[in-house]
Amino acid sequence: MDEMIYLDHAATTPLDPRVLEAMTPYFSQVFGNPSSVYRVAREARKALDEARQTVADILHASPQEVVFTSGGTEGDNLAIKGVALAMARQGKGRHIITGQIEHHAVLHACESLEAAGFEVTYLPVDDDGLLHPQTLEEAIRPDTVLVSIMYANNEVGTIEPIVDLAGIAHAHGVYFHTDAVQAAGFLSLDVEELGVDLLSISAHKFYGPKGVGMLYVRRGVPLLPLIEGGAQERRRRAGTENVPGIVGLATALRLVQEERDSLSAHCAHLRDRLIEGLLGAIPFARLNGHRTQRLPNNVNLCFEFVEGESVLLKLDQLGICASSGSACTSGALEPSHVLRAMGVPPEVALGSLRLTVGRMNTSEQIERVLSVLPGIIEELRRMSPLYLERVRG
Ligand code: PLP
Repeated sequence: MDEMIYLDHAATTPLDPRVLEAMTPYFSQVFGNPSSVYRVAREARKALDEARQTVADILHASPQEVVFTSGGTEGDNLAIKGVALAMARQGKGRHIITGQIEHHAVLHACESLEAAGFEVTYLPVDDDGLLHPQTLEEAIRPDTVLVSIMYANNEVGTIEPIVDLAGIAHAHGVYFHTDAVQAAGFLSLDVEELGVDLLSISAHKFYGPKGVGMLYVRRGVPLLPLIEGGAQERRRRAGTENVPGIVGLATALRLVQEERDSLSAHCAHLRDRLIEGLLGAIPFARLNGHRTQRLPNNVNLCFEFVEGESVLLKLDQLGICASSGSACTSGALEPSHVLRAMGVPPEVALGSLRLTVGRMNTSEQIERVLSVLPGIIEELRRMSPLYLERVRG
């Protein structure tokens, strides 16, 4: 058996053993419900309060502005539907702006609001996946209530100019949400510097547990809860708190933010070697996403004349875990909506491969990928009449 080489950190990351250690007591000894009054519950409440403070400090926010959720999908839904519905209830506008390359958690939340009578504008991006501030400026209307633009894209890694975009929204009195799910492991989450009103993250993308996330909601931003019941999370998200998960999220966020510089440098080194090595060895290949305004761990390439899914299967046989486009859509052989919005032709977009590196990857692993991937592409291309026609002239 080949050693597993995990290159799909944008899909999920392994749990950091230090995070597991911090979580463990809250599964067993400290099992109390934080809403109860006796000691084992008070201890759970204390852990919850400390986790909230840790997250608030990292965000430069106050603990009351931190809402724990079940992950990125819920955070995105709560931000978008929560603000839209609260504003509609106040008789404010019903227009929302988002981007064409957002994650489906945002896009589908917006589509469901459209079905409920809201209007949504989906902004285009350029060939690198960048959303230009001017494009947003032109789309804002008097009835716009919310703008939601991702901090960094999950497929191609392009980092959006959030400070400028949020500034434009605010100049028009419009709230601004950012999906920071992919950014949280690498970029600053200081909500004062970013100037955002809502920001969602998910622990399993930065070496924390799955099924737990956080939505930052700036004080004063109107928000209707999606999940109703008890008074938890200041009535913005009912349900007994996932104490071990929340402790895990806070610990993972603290560690990844403390170690951000070294992790970014490590990942960027491996990323650049992969990009350079693959583009140098494989003809008819291109890099998707911005070359420099890019997450340090993301490589996304298109190989003409092959299907990304076939490449994945071949890599899997060698123990290499990768993704074609977004993990959330893999299985469906449709070209990625992100690559399509960036102007990549559908037949080329089908040949996309995403490799996202992480903490545990080594240069040796990267060299191993560089030694096998060109051969895999060539082997698959030899089955393509279009390719053979092209190379034979
Ligand atoms: N937003 C982005 C940009 C993502 O990459 C993902 C996960 O792939 C999500 C949201 C959804 O997060 P979760 O898996 O925690 O629901």
